[in-house]
Amino acid sequence: MAYIVTINLETCEGCGDCAENCPVEILSLDARPADIPPPESAEDPEKVAIVSGDAAECTGCMACVSVCPSESITIQEI
Ligand code: SF4
Ligand code: SF4
Repeated sequence: MAYIVTINLETCEGCGDCAENCPVEILSLDARPADIPPPESAEDPEKVAIVSGDAAECTGCMACVSVCPSESITIQEI
């Protein structure tokens, strides 16, 4: 089973909760791209979550989806 992890950078609040809760540590925070303005609710307007590790290690546990305050993460089974 494999999964595609998609993060909506337009709604990501830069809180880092997804990265802190991913059991295989494939998510992290990175600098927000200059052409994608942060949402008004952003906790850290200069950061966004990215898939920084090997996406093939995603177990589909949905922990990141559960903790994300802005519903910015989608896990798709492929
Ligand atoms: S579904 Fe689980 S393993 Fe996959 S990125 Fe989210 S927290 Fe990590
Ligand atoms: S939990 Fe959601 S809002 Fe917070 S950094 Fe991750 S994707 Fe962005």
